[in-house]
Amino acid sequence: MRYSQMLLPTTRETPSEAEVVSHQLLLRGGFIRKLSAGVYTYLPLGLAVVQKVAQIVREEMNRAGAQELLMPMVQPADLWQESGRWQKYGAELLRFTDRHGRGFCLGPTHEEVITDLARRELRSYRQLPKNLYQIQTKFRDEIRPRFGLMRGREFVMKDAYSFDVSDQAAGLSYRKMFDAYHRIFRRCGLEFRAVEADTGTIGGSFSHEFMVLARTGEDTLVVCERCSYAANVEKAAIAPPENGAAPPAPVREMARVETPGVKKVEMVAKFLGVRPADIIKTMIYLVDGEPVAALVRGDREVQAVKLKNLLGATEVELADDKTVYQKTKLPVGYLGPVNLPLKVVADQEVMAMVNCVAGANEKQYHLTGVQPGRDFEPFVAGDLRQVTAGDPCPSCGGPVKLIEGIEVGHIFKLGTAYSEAMSATFQDSDGSEKPFVMGCYGIGVSRIAAAAIEQNHDRHGIIFPLSVAPFQVILLNLGLKNEATTRAADQLYHDLQGLGVEVLYDDRDERPGSKFQDADLIGIPYRLTLGKTYEKEGLVEVRRRLDGHVETIEYDQAAATVAGMINRELAAMAG
Ligand code: ATP
Ligand code: MG
Repeated sequence: MRYSQMLLPTTRETPSEAEVVSHQLLLRGGFIRKLSAGVYTYLPLGLAVVQKVAQIVREEMNRAGAQELLMPMVQPADLWQESGRWQKYGAELLRFTDRHGRGFCLGPTHEEVITDLARRELRSYRQLPKNLYQIQTKFRDEIRPRFGLMRGREFVMKDAYSFDVSDQAAGLSYRKMFDAYHRIFRRCGLEFRAVEADTGTIGGSFSHEFMVLARTGEDTLVVCERCSYAANVEKAAIAPPENGAAPPAPVREMARVETPGVKKVEMVAKFLGVRPADIIKTMIYLVDGEPVAALVRGDREVQAVKLKNLLGATEVELADDKTVYQKTKLPVGYLGPVNLPLKVVADQEVMAMVNCVAGANEKQYHLTGVQPGRDFEPFVAGDLRQVTAGDPCPSCGGPVKLIEGIEVGHIFKLGTAYSEAMSATFQDSDGSEKPFVMGCYGIGVSRIAAAAIEQNHDRHGIIFPLSVAPFQVILLNLGLKNEATTRAADQLYHDLQGLGVEVLYDDRDERPGSKFQDADLIGIPYRLTLGKTYEKEGLVEVRRRLDGHVETIEYDQAAATVAGMINRELAAMAG
């Protein structure tokens, strides 16, 4: 492609609406443009990256025995009613009606559609296993679309669905995807980790997320420093506290103390001369719209997904002070579990506390000597708190650490949840009708483009891994006024293309400085320059974006040498 003809609007200024570096560079480099919140146009360069990622995904899915198909983006409501998710999915599902008043939604995921297809087309065990996938635009009405391609409302996903005769066979299908995902993310040149994950709205019994390690990640990973345990913090379990380690303190009576203007845990601790660990922190969450009090030790945080799972709820959200007051008319800042007219859910650790401090549910007052079990009984107690660094690993007991990641893939063992709800059965070898045992496997194709940039950039711009770069080579002609140089550059452009190299040919009449800047900004892995060195010595300069390494090559050898370098590097990435 000739740069002079390409729609490639780069800018020098950092756009103010972009908080993270991938969003900034995707805008500055002319990869994407925003149409509406979380909805983007992919300009030619952006589309090239998305297509590169999609092609790697496609090749590895095919290699693993999956077959590509394409399902509609518009889905009828009755399928979602059958699966039960029309009620459950919440506001992320964009619903609408057609001219006949029939309900529809834009597909955020395709379990319903594929299960409907399977129950029609897969009738016998002889047709199994099957793994069907598509690469398609999804729509989710995200509450907070942000960070550009990282969390859009419209985005490109690869979703695959497996159908098996038994749980054991489904385990094998899952394993194949687990391995294929490792190959995919390795080929994309990403530093990643597979972690145990929560199963979320999709439902199911078992799942892993694939996380690209990056500071801007919205997910937190719990990683053991001693063994191979790794899990999403939403999922990472905490063992119940051991009883009887320390001799129980003498249990005191409850007392009401005045604590004027003292609300936050740290302030209460200071004011009463106790440790934060002696205080019961009472947090109000809206659980499917209803206020619920979640209790953790004062030095801990509630993990909302654990709360959601403990209550079997669909939506859980921390309530702000205004909402708490509106919904409960209780004195915010002085809440506690004793005589609280709300559903109370306690972390297991709270139940082991002795002589605690808690809000008195009365302005300016706290209670001391509170005894869980004696002074209040929770609706349910369990693992509710967020893991913190140094907590014992649930697998080996060693200390864990927390790191940030971007979720780029998610695989689930679904079991028979959908096939049973939608009566999707096949005839087994003994003649009996059985529900399919299913799995589903997602990859955020457009999110990978952003994740790759979060992980690979410097202050000059993007440093694309070769496998996902929109072009492999950018060829700069700095001798536009010189006919011989221009002829040589044109020829090199054609020779490289002839060898299958993807070249962006910068034939613009621009200053060298601005050509170099653009080349660095858009992150093309190899920069070839024809300028003074060519005019004087017949040499082409080859510069690697990754480390700035420069070498010069005889013009006649340039095309073949560069093509060879590229092929070797791609082969190494493919493993
Ligand atoms: P998240 O927790 O980030 O919302 P999810 O659990 O809802 O993700 P899945 O339903 O498992 O995501 O979707 C499969 C993959 O699609 C994810 O692993 C992620 O890479 C990608 N994805 C999900 N939501 C978005 C989004 N809003 N924008 C871009 N990619 C997304
Ligand atoms: Mg989501």
